[in-house]
Amino acid sequence: MAIASINPYTGRVERKFRAFSWPQTERILTQAHRAAAEWRTTTFAHRAQLMHRAADLLRERQDELARIMALEMGKPVVDGRAEVLKCALCCDYYADHAEEFLADDPIKTEAQRSFISHEPIGVVLAVMPWNFPFWQVVRFAAPALMAGNVGLLKHASNVPQCALALEKIYHDAGFPAATFRALLVGSDMVEKLLEDDRVRAVTLTGSELAGAQVAATAGRQIKKTVLELGGSDAFIVLADADLELAAKTAAQTRMINAGQSCIAAKRFIVEKPVVKEFISKMKTHLLAFRTGDPLDEDTQYGPLARPDLADEITQQVEDSIEQGAKVELHGGQSKPGTALFRPMILSNIKPKQRAYHEELFGPVALILEAKNAEDAVRLANDSRFGLGGSVWTRDVKRGEALARQVEAGAVFVNSMVKSSPEMPFGGVKKSGYGRELSYLGIREFVNQKSIWIA
Ligand code: NDP
Repeated sequence: MAIASINPYTGRVERKFRAFSWPQTERILTQAHRAAAEWRTTTFAHRAQLMHRAADLLRERQDELARIMALEMGKPVVDGRAEVLKCALCCDYYADHAEEFLADDPIKTEAQRSFISHEPIGVVLAVMPWNFPFWQVVRFAAPALMAGNVGLLKHASNVPQCALALEKIYHDAGFPAATFRALLVGSDMVEKLLEDDRVRAVTLTGSELAGAQVAATAGRQIKKTVLELGGSDAFIVLADADLELAAKTAAQTRMINAGQSCIAAKRFIVEKPVVKEFISKMKTHLLAFRTGDPLDEDTQYGPLARPDLADEITQQVEDSIEQGAKVELHGGQSKPGTALFRPMILSNIKPKQRAYHEELFGPVALILEAKNAEDAVRLANDSRFGLGGSVWTRDVKRGEALARQVEAGAVFVNSMVKSSPEMPFGGVKKSGYGRELSYLGIREFVNQKSIWIA
């Protein structure tokens, strides 16, 4: 894919970039490797000072950064600013907590003293997607830099200006230039980078295919991977739920980033007695969402990030309808090759349909009818994915018990699934492995070294 900013709302090419050659890339890698030796010797206090400065710069530049997102991938500026502010929070959080999360863990043994020390591993490559072009990167970069590692960012080819703007933030905050670099390279360069011994590990957020290919290369090189590969999260609504709140939240979660979120609920599994009412309420809420130019303050959802992504969802929807899905709310693309996709609701979702098994990365809500709570959990778990899930019931104890039975990396009771710096984030099954965020996330890319003093 060409490295370019193409406004999905207008179709206009905003800017094109020449991809870095291998010698150019290799030079940056050499600098990063050298910087890693220095950076690991700096104190947490020093790193924290720079990271707080990065947080301040994110807050100062929120309008400019939101505008770049709007122009490159169609996110409404209101949501863009919220994303940037969340990134600032994340930088502050790791500035404040990294030292505590990476403190020595004493272990009782026959030794005089034994403990685990957490040491930086060096250069970590981050292969990142376009859907939350700042947040996905910062949730890697803030803990990684605070841990004493160095980051190389291979961002998605449609968001090069986001990549460069973030690089500039870290540089302006005072991080040595080589500790965080954006590589304007295509996905074909990732294999070559991973084959270089100076790259010690890789984290990838994106599709299952990209994750499998990167993990295979990393595996051959005996390098650690963290993979976050999306999902088809279940949103279980029991008959005793606050139906109004559940339906309103259902519409909100399905419309996050015009439906292009890995943790947006995608399968709405509703107990039979309330399914009709739930669909009707959700439809009302979905129809209230306003679309328009992502640069307008009152736009609530914009186009998808690229027309080909909208074409792909249309195909998934059409195939599913042919296979028996029923349209409850008409929407979708107005014509092929355009990026705007209006919300849809499909019901009667059955195992023989594409929609039952695949992730629909756009604003299509799938309704599955459950006989009872046990059946709802069975349906939730009958998926290749296991990223997040939510359970809606007035009986919180029962909600918690069901949450434990859902096969996912995170389950929320009476709330939509969200990510936050404090809680671990990641999946099971085809949603990937490893964790980002929290003390678990920062410990993914450190050498957990046993030290034994006899
Ligand atoms: P991709 O997975 O193709 O892209 C994500 C990142 O991986 C990009 O930086 C991309 O680079 C890179 N990449 C892709 N293939 C490889 C490869 N073989 N080796 C190394 N790096 C690679 O996502 P798409 O943009 O094509 O979106 C397709 C689908 O992926 C979506 O519809 C959705 O289902 C899923 N997705 C999930 C996300 C999530 O948050 N979990 C985010 C984005 C997408 P480049 O841009 O240069 O191709």
